[in-house]
Amino acid sequence: MLRSVLAIGAHPDDIELGCGGTLAAHRAAGDAVTMLVVTGGQNGPGATAERRAEAEAAARNLDCLLRWGHLVDCAVTADAATIAVIEKAIRDTDADVVYVHAPDDSHQDHRAVAAATLSAGRHSRRILHYRSPSTTRFEPTVFTDISAHLDTKIAALSCHRSQVENSAMVDPEVVAASARHYGAQARVRHAEAFMPARFVWDLSPVLEMPLITQMPAYPAQVPA
Ligand SMILES: [Zn+2]
Repeated sequence: MLRSVLAIGAHPDDIELGCGGTLAAHRAAGDAVTMLVVTGGQNGPGATAERRAEAEAAARNLDCLLRWGHLVDCAVTADAATIAVIEKAIRDTDADVVYVHAPDDSHQDHRAVAAATLSAGRHSRRILHYRSPSTTRFEPTVFTDISAHLDTKIAALSCHRSQVENSAMVDPEVVAASARHYGAQARVRHAEAFMPARFVWDLSPVLEMPLITQMPAYPAQVPA
C-alpha cells in the first residue's frame, strides 16, 4: 500500500531536521513525499536565493517534491491565509500522513505552523509532530526506524550550508546523537521521534506480503 506523505516546515531545513530520515524511509518504501516550506527563511542567516537553492538541493537529495508557501519569515500567524496554504497542500497531495512542528516551541513561526496544520488537517487521519532544536516540550510516543537512512538525513541537512555553518541550532553531531538517543528509546539503532496529534493505525493487509488465507489449526479442546 503506497502512501502519500506531506511534511510541513516553517523554514528551509526544519523538515530535514525534524523528519528527514523518516522521509527517506518513506521514499525507500515507494511512498510519494512532498515537502511544504511555508516561508523562504528571509530573516535567518543566508540570502533568500541561497536558502532556496539549498532547500531544492536537499529535496533532491531526499528524492522528495518541494513546494513553497511564500509566507514571510518570522511573521507567520495561524490565520486564514496560513491555513489556506496548508489546506491546499493537503488537498493537492491527498496526504495520508502529515508531519509538522511540535506545538510547544520558542519560535513563533513553528508554533503558528503547528496550530495552522491542526486546523487545515482537521479531516486528516494521521498528524505527527516532530521535534525542532527550538522545541520546548516534547514527549514522543511514536518512533520511526531510520537506522538505514541517517546518512541520507545528514547529507540532506548538509545541503543547507548557510545554516550548518552559521547557526548553532543546526549541528550534524547533535542530529546523529539525537537519532541514537531516540533509537535507544525505540529499541532500534537510530530513530526519529514523534508526538501524534492523531494517528489512525491502518490494519488492512500489506498487499506486497503473502496473505494468510487459513487460520492456524488449533486443537478444538485443550487436552487434559
Ligand atoms: Zn524553523
